[in-house]
Amino acid sequence: RTVYVNGSYLPEEEATVSIFDRGFLFADAVYEVTSVVRGKLIDFDGHMARLRRSLGELALSSPVSDEEMLAIHRELVTRNDIDEGLIYLQVTRGSAGDRDFAFPPADTKPTLVLFTQAKKVIENPAAGTGLKVISIDDIRWGRCDIKTVQLLYPCLAKMAAKHAHVDDAWMVRDGLVTEGSSNNAYIVTSEGTIVTREKSQSILHGITRAATLRLAEEKGLKVEERGFSIEEAKNAREAFITSASLFVMPVVEIDGAAIGEGRPGELSRRLREIYIEDALKTAI
Ligand code: PMP
Repeated sequence: RTVYVNGSYLPEEEATVSIFDRGFLFADAVYEVTSVVRGKLIDFDGHMARLRRSLGELALSSPVSDEEMLAIHRELVTRNDIDEGLIYLQVTRGSAGDRDFAFPPADTKPTLVLFTQAKKVIENPAAGTGLKVISIDDIRWGRCDIKTVQLLYPCLAKMAAKHAHVDDAWMVRDGLVTEGSSNNAYIVTSEGTIVTREKSQSILHGITRAATLRLAEEKGLKVEERGFSIEEAKNAREAFITSASLFVMPVVEIDGAAIGEGRPGELSRRLREIYIEDALKTAI
């Protein structure tokens, strides 16, 4: 696999970053994951807009322009012959050559790393069966709207799910679901209303969330942005999640309780199709 690091395209074995890099020492870094379908990028502009926002919130400087970022993404797709998969991008604050909590001098160069992952994103077999989730306390920090690489708690949440023999965990704060460990969470009420947590500093503002809600409203579906409890979710008609890598993915079980008939719901499946159709049309 060819990866990108600070201006160079290299075989992955040859790509290196300093041990003093603040991404490594302090998780002082932000990231994005963009999906590739038929060799094209889904919602690239959305991911770049969120990257700019994450960088801005942490006073991180941008290593390259959006145009260069697009060129790097495309070059990696070509060099790795990616038809379907993901591109991971990370920007760190770089390093001034020692460990110091305070930010390094302003002229310190940020580190930019990108790599590809070939993966079936459209024909994902999980879409046919749906995911099972457990609930877990959301004890993350207060700025979940910034896409930092500080992902230890989501890793622990995934491990809790694994130990419970399910696929993922939905995080709960003050009695209401915030989001999944690496995705946004939704339910469909008995009236057919799509409910998902409102945007705030408590959740990541998913690029797939924005697209899904826009498409749902275009199709005349009712959307409510508010918190919901695990109890409400267990009694919902359907449940699903969204993320750049899973698109719209049905959820069929929460804390051992079957959602609806315990199979992917009709609306969730339809939304997945609508999302994929739109993504294929708008990918660049
Ligand atoms: N919430 C969290 C905590 C995430 O990590 C992600 C994916 N990175 C999402 C939501 C979904 O965001 P997106 O649709 O932009 O992938």
